[in-house]
Amino acid sequence: MSTLLQIKNLRTYFFTDEGVVKAVDGVSFEIEEGRTLGVVGESGCGKSVTARSIIKLLSTAGRIVSGEILYNMDGQMVDLVKFSKEEIRKVRGRHIAMIFQEPMAAFSPVYTIGDQITEGMIYHFGITKQEARERAVELLRRVGIPKPEKMIDSYPFEYSGGMRQRAMIAMALSCNPRLLIADEPTTALDVTIQAQVLDLLKDLQQEYKMAIMMITHNMGVVAEMADHVVVMYLGRVVESAPVEELFYNPKHPYTSLLLRSIPVVGKRVERLEVIEGDVPDPRNMPKGCRFHPRCPYMMKGICDEREPVEVEVGPEHRVSCFLYGGEKDGAS
Ligand code: SF4
Ligand code: MG
Repeated sequence: MSTLLQIKNLRTYFFTDEGVVKAVDGVSFEIEEGRTLGVVGESGCGKSVTARSIIKLLSTAGRIVSGEILYNMDGQMVDLVKFSKEEIRKVRGRHIAMIFQEPMAAFSPVYTIGDQITEGMIYHFGITKQEARERAVELLRRVGIPKPEKMIDSYPFEYSGGMRQRAMIAMALSCNPRLLIADEPTTALDVTIQAQVLDLLKDLQQEYKMAIMMITHNMGVVAEMADHVVVMYLGRVVESAPVEELFYNPKHPYTSLLLRSIPVVGKRVERLEVIEGDVPDPRNMPKGCRFHPRCPYMMKGICDEREPVEVEVGPEHRVSCFLYGGEKDGAS
């Protein structure tokens, strides 16, 4: 298995009038070719910003301040951070595509679904409008849109929520991306549709041999989809492990709490009720371990003073917490 994407020490900050928000603050992880990485954490932990940094879909206040995003482009590792706007446009859609919780974020309301799906194919492959249209009809059929040769000429508002989600997946797959970034793709859907969309994604992954970065706050979705999992908290990765290992042998107190609040697959959950306290204000990060104000195992004088470093606790299993070493003994 080879590495498709390797993020190294990524920092993405937002420069606002109220101060600097360190949304992503030293994040590292890898995605293997054809595999699914689950990225999990509560809202505001930096999952979406990490994803958007990869294809530079950040708002104007957001900036990658350091780090590398190495992408295996036809056998050569290239750093996407250094890519110009024009260069990244050639990557977006063709190499790395993204789907969102709200399909209206991907579609313009004023063009037909067909116009929007064919646009990328015409741009990336230089094929004719007619060729692109035929391919789009096939894609719509493949994702389960009824009467695709008719529906292709409809506008997004004429699709139901579930159908829009399927059409967005069709658009994302239209240029055969190697990596699909799925940001809470099923969160807004009802239970049955949610399960159907996840099944569809798994089937398409097999067919298209693409890797998926599945961003979710739902541990049920992680269990269903992921091979490897990265747990994020306040802009940092706190634990990373193969999926079975994470579920059966979680190490970080935050991961354990996430697992205790595990929702039933398909059930819509707005927030993780079990974990006490709110996510702190990212403009005012807690000193020491960022989780210490909410951690049941917090060690005074250690966790509230120093930042834990990442330690290896098993094969491909890493955790940042003083309970497993790090700088605990060396704390002054
Ligand atoms: Fe809890 Fe301390 Fe571990 Fe942070 S380092 S998760 S506060 S035990
Ligand atoms: Mg998000």
